[in-house]
Amino acid sequence: MADRPTRVLILGGGFGGVYTALTLEKLLKREIRDGRVELGLVSRDNYIVFQPMLPEVISGSIGLLDTLTPIRRLCPNTNLYTRGVDKIDLDRKRVSAAAGFGSRQCALEYDHLVVALGNVTSFAGQPGLAEHALPFKYLGDALALRNRVIHTLEEADIERDPEARRALLTFVVAGGGFSGVEAVAELNDFVRTAAKAFRNVEPEQIRVVLLHAQGLILPELPKSLAEFAQRLLMKRGVELRLNTRLHGGTADAALLAGGERIATRTLVSTVPSAPNPLVAALPVKKEKGRIVVGPYLELPDRPGVWAVGDCAWITDAKTGEPCPPTAQHATREARCAARNIAAAIRGGEKRAFSFTALGKMGSLGHRSAVAEIFGIKLSGFLAWWLWRTIYLLKLPGLDRKLRVATDWTLDLILPPDITQLKTEHPEGIRREHFEANEIIFREGDRGDWLYVLVDGEVEVIKHLAGQGDVTLRRLCAGECFGEIALVSDRPRSATVRSLTSVNVLAVDRDAFHSLFSNLPPLRGFFEQLIEARLKGTKDEMM
Ligand SMILES: Cc1cc2nc3c(=O)[nH]c(=O)nc-3n(C[C@H](O)[C@H](O)[C@H](O)COP(=O)(O)OP(=O)(O)OC[C@H]3O[C@@H](n4cnc5c(N)ncnc54)[C@H](O)[C@@H]3O)c2cc1C
Repeated sequence: MADRPTRVLILGGGFGGVYTALTLEKLLKREIRDGRVELGLVSRDNYIVFQPMLPEVISGSIGLLDTLTPIRRLCPNTNLYTRGVDKIDLDRKRVSAAAGFGSRQCALEYDHLVVALGNVTSFAGQPGLAEHALPFKYLGDALALRNRVIHTLEEADIERDPEARRALLTFVVAGGGFSGVEAVAELNDFVRTAAKAFRNVEPEQIRVVLLHAQGLILPELPKSLAEFAQRLLMKRGVELRLNTRLHGGTADAALLAGGERIATRTLVSTVPSAPNPLVAALPVKKEKGRIVVGPYLELPDRPGVWAVGDCAWITDAKTGEPCPPTAQHATREARCAARNIAAAIRGGEKRAFSFTALGKMGSLGHRSAVAEIFGIKLSGFLAWWLWRTIYLLKLPGLDRKLRVATDWTLDLILPPDITQLKTEHPEGIRREHFEANEIIFREGDRGDWLYVLVDGEVEVIKHLAGQGDVTLRRLCAGECFGEIALVSDRPRSATVRSLTSVNVLAVDRDAFHSLFSNLPPLRGFFEQLIEARLKGTKDEMM
């Protein structure tokens, strides 16, 4: 026996990673106790998120923390590194984890490595979505969406401009797959029920729109169930826009392919997912960005390296079909990989992966769902009851099961909670996107932000008595605007409008003043710029 334990290192604390650790703890109980095997798991968070229940966080029908289970409780014999993974070095069998407090990285060596890093949200190629759309994958996303909905209701209640009010009360979700449909159903139920607490919001002013690129939502389900889901959503007031693709977004609109724009302050996109950058950087064979593994879930050219879950390209040993990226599959793959790792450590036969999905279910809110289980199609209340029962049983941890069951029961009798939790820190710098011909700010507005043009072109316009709107100047990439109001603490002295599609960096008042007051060269630069611009404006007025 070697004089050091065999080290199994798991990357990722989702279904793939956590169920690998859970199964290894059971299978290698003796070896772990005797110090012959050491298990480690690296994940950004110290909990696993039960994503199938995430849509319910929007409406608050389950508590905020109830979709989470602490990994330490589930896997008490695994060393948990609550850190980001920075680098995977397959040649040196070493993983670098990001620094915690301070800046010292942590190097972890392994004999067996399980890559279970899932995939990531990506809005690449869709202008303005990274800046303005809300993703829907993590707990933070569900919480942000819930807060946004409540915030828009608060604003709509006091907004007098009918156009701005319409945008506030329009909610757009893109993506008619399971997560989009479940999210739109919960959002629709929540906003319509919550609106009753707002004196000036009429239910008929609320518009909830689902965009879907194909002719029928829920393409994973049989046609009759998908049609049932469509009818039900429409009956509850969701506007379905089929064969409609989201092209991009701005702060106050969803931009559709074809040029149409829907004025909204809440745009959710459930569509895009891209390979995790760490996976993309691995020098191994991939298919559609996922790591190709052999039948035992080990990489063919890298013995001792395994991959499971959404980041792995796995071919079912019986059917020869690629496995879909679902939690159902990730947990089974994790168990299979754990068994094969145990066999590799102890000596034993490895087993090829094969799993036939038990079924598919999607909740439609208001005690309704669609399900296909063992080939049997169900819809309505029975499907919803099954959905709840099955997911409750699958939720990891008895304490979480009890909490969720209690929340569900109370939700039947209590009104929805409309408390808005303001958890975000004010952003010092943020990115914003504008399409051509949009007003970035108006003359007379309060000056809260300095803008740096990343790309595109804008014009600065001033209203002059007797002359109307006069263009003072055009600005392009690398130039800034908005500094006069920030420095002088007066309202905006001009209007700025985009001439092309524009990306900007917006620096908020506090961040700007910290730099302006403490960095003399920067202060000098802005003082000169303002002087030159004010002189230019005076010349124009003469
Ligand atoms: C809203 C929603 C609803 C869903 N509903 C269902 C459903 O009803 N049924 C179903 O079967 N499937 C469902 N899915 C899909 C299912 O959740 C995924 O297939 C499953 O989570 C994949 O598990 P995974 O472990 O491969 O990846 P993930 O669960 O994505 O886990 C990846 C882990 O890696 C960690 N990680 C990533 N990068 C780093 C890094 N650099 N450093 C450290 N840690 C890192 C992450 O924090 C995370 O813990 C749903 C997904 C979503 C988003």
